Amino acid sequence: MAEKRDYYEVLGVSKTASDDEIKKAYRKVAKKYHPDLNPGDKTAEEKFKEANEAYEVLSDSQKKARYDQFGHAGVDPNGFGGAGGGFGGGFGGFGGDMDFDLGDILGSMFGGGFGGGFGGGRRANPNAPRRGSDIQTRVTVSFEEAAKGCQRKIEVGKIVTCDSCKGSGAAAGTHAETCKQCNGSGQISVQQRTPFGVMSTVKTCPSCNGKGKVIPNPCSKCRGTGFMKQNETVEINIPAGIDDGQSMQVAGGGNKGTNGGPNGNLIIRVSVRPHPFFSRDGYDVWLDQTVTFAQAALGDTLYIPTLDGKVKFDLPAGTQPGEVFRLRSRGIQKLNQKAKGDQFVKIIVDVPRNLNSTQKDMLRKFNDSLPDKPKNNVNDGTATEDKKNFFDRVKDIFD
Ligand SMILES: [Zn+2]
Ligand SMILES: [Zn+2]
Repeated sequence: MAEKRDYYEVLGVSKTASDDEIKKAYRKVAKKYHPDLNPGDKTAEEKFKEANEAYEVLSDSQKKARYDQFGHAGVDPNGFGGAGGGFGGGFGGFGGDMDFDLGDILGSMFGGGFGGGFGGGRRANPNAPRRGSDIQTRVTVSFEEAAKGCQRKIEVGKIVTCDSCKGSGAAAGTHAETCKQCNGSGQISVQQRTPFGVMSTVKTCPSCNGKGKVIPNPCSKCRGTGFMKQNETVEINIPAGIDDGQSMQVAGGGNKGTNGGPNGNLIIRVSVRPHPFFSRDGYDVWLDQTVTFAQAALGDTLYIPTLDGKVKFDLPAGTQPGEVFRLRSRGIQKLNQKAKGDQFVKIIVDVPRNLNSTQKDMLRKFNDSLPDKPKNNVNDGTATEDKKNFFDRVKDIFD
């Protein structure tokens, strides 16, 4: 494969470009190379793909940050920081191998969202079932894919039961033993002398951290945790009608729970690439359709692009610039419904530039033939000559 071009260069923006500038630049490039506008042109197709790839990275603040720091290697789905990784807490930059930091895993399993709800600051029972943490990831789809729905395979790094010890945490042929210090209760009592006599308080056993069991020979793969990190390919159905920034959830698709607790969920945030010529408003699609001055005046049969391909449309004679027409049910499939939005077509009238002398003569004749010309080019005797030139007048306005 050829050397990859710089993503900023692909979109023609500076490294300091705002999200909005990136979006605008993408639409411009995508419009230029869109396959619909360049049928059969392989070079244009490659450039279109390149623009999509650049937008996917530069529109995602986390991917963009990795790209800025590490270049293409930072966002290569086959390398460092892979597709599912790098989101939120704990697992950023997790590579292909299984050598992970125990602190990360525990932080991710027991951190955030848990802890509360037990009230009174009491330590949670380490043997109680706990729900696994959620995994958040992001997927980018095209405008059309969001409109019609699609399937995607995504790679997700998740915490699963260690396949070597089947979750026991003990090396093969060994098992966990009852803690000798607390005899399996997980708690010890501590006697303290006070002015009121001997007080006895119950504390979590420091030897087994309250679990009541110890693992003399921990499994080397999971270092005794019973869990490991694994990349899994998950096939997801992205429903028709989903919009940029919406999330979907796969119940139980997150990290493994502990002590028989349920799995967390997999939360997928969908980002939708803007379309080069369609824009979206709810479930409606908007399109600017440029016509010539003559087409607007005389009417014409047009073939208008829609999400379902081109449709025949009779432009009425006398269509005014900015006039909007509705194509019913040519919009986006509504989320979890059968109905569709509409497509709105806004007519842009192209005023011709650089006319040749024959065309100018024709238009002058045409203009002279108009019975009711606007009256502001007829001197009714009250006009005074403006001696200033054009630039002076502009200056007047801004002074
Ligand atoms: Zn293990
Ligand atoms: Zn103990």
